[in-house]
Amino acid sequence: MTVVRWAPSPTGRIHLGNARPALLNWFFARRNGGRYILRMDDTDLARSTREFADGIEVDLAWLGVTPDLLVRQSERTALYDAARDQLIASGRLYPAYETEEELDRKRARARLLGKPPIYDRAALSLTDEQKAAYEVEGRKPHWRFKLDGRPVQFTDLIKGPQTVNTASMSDPVLIRADGSYLYTLPSVVDDIDLGVTHVIRGEDHVSNTGTQIEIIEALGGTVPTFAHHNLLTDAAGQGFSKRLGSQSISDFRNEGYEPLAVAIMATLTGTSMPIEPYQSLDAIAEKLDFSMISHGSARFDPAELDSLNARLLHTMPYEEAFPRLSSMGLEGEAIWNLLRENLVRFPDIAEWSKLVTGPIEPVIAPEDQEFLALAKAILPPEPWDENTWGLWTNALKGATGRKGKALFLPLRMALTGRHDGPELKSLLVLLGRKACLDRLP
Ligand code: GLU
Repeated sequence: MTVVRWAPSPTGRIHLGNARPALLNWFFARRNGGRYILRMDDTDLARSTREFADGIEVDLAWLGVTPDLLVRQSERTALYDAARDQLIASGRLYPAYETEEELDRKRARARLLGKPPIYDRAALSLTDEQKAAYEVEGRKPHWRFKLDGRPVQFTDLIKGPQTVNTASMSDPVLIRADGSYLYTLPSVVDDIDLGVTHVIRGEDHVSNTGTQIEIIEALGGTVPTFAHHNLLTDAAGQGFSKRLGSQSISDFRNEGYEPLAVAIMATLTGTSMPIEPYQSLDAIAEKLDFSMISHGSARFDPAELDSLNARLLHTMPYEEAFPRLSSMGLEGEAIWNLLRENLVRFPDIAEWSKLVTGPIEPVIAPEDQEFLALAKAILPPEPWDENTWGLWTNALKGATGRKGKALFLPLRMALTGRHDGPELKSLLVLLGRKACLDRLP
């Protein structure tokens, strides 16, 4: 059974960069009939909030992802404590008492000597007396994992064979001096406990993978398969960031974008799969293979989102648009079919629908005054259908000799007040004779 997890930290609203692994995990689960776990990485109590966690659930649901299970790391401390004790007992987790300043000095000294700033493991040779003396001083230890210091190899489903040499790393701190856990240990413990088979996440985690594999092995767990995807950047090439206030998924929702458009952009940017108006997430899941994810950068293009969003709306069936239309007090399949081709975002329909419901400000150029008065005079009697427009404009053409733009644009400007917009032959039917008479001089 395939089991994946998406593990956001609820320290802000999620953005496009976060949506990418959320969805890539979803596609993989769907393709393989697997389980999808939403895991709140909320061990950082100072920055995580329940409000942000709830917001993540809402945003994920809006994107169309429905997790099979939700877990919160803040509720699973007993498991992490047990793993901690196991690692201490096997000698892989050791207390260290250096303060931040002392560590800074060590790093500065290493740099001066032209050495990499790797932790020197001085804490490993502390005697029991020295430790007791620190404790008396009031120092609390942080806890480091003793790395094997070897090349850890794994085959990444996206990036291919990878080697992370833990010999070039400092022993990572797993537990802070205040007893709280950093990301690494809870993540690994949960992956083991929840039977995660595939870890799909951003490539900024490749170097952590070496450490994580060592910890999993030290705990006797099964090492999952890893897949690290390229990171999405904004149009300027900057990474998305909660802290820097990148546009969030909820911002896109509030601006009226289609969830599918946002999901497609978040996942297919930086892949070889074309950005198209796929009709569902499943339609993407069927096609998207990890081999299509580029090893290069993935730069989000807002203009492309707009055009994709528009394309999704232009073919959207009335039944799908209906709930939102009726909440705006706009019903009628004919209106939808007429106006949808003009939409970039759904809420645009409010403005466009005024062409039908009015009021609009007819635009009448002085040189067209006479032409439009004639048009008004020969406006056919009702009932009207899609042929009415042709009958009317042909008669006008015969009477005035006008054709093309000179014939159609003044009519459009008078009837709609603008030079672009929906097809006039359908608009005419929806307007009806009375409204047309009102708009013509
Ligand atoms: N909370 C981590 C993050 O958001 C999860 C990384 C992972 O998937 O292991 O970066």
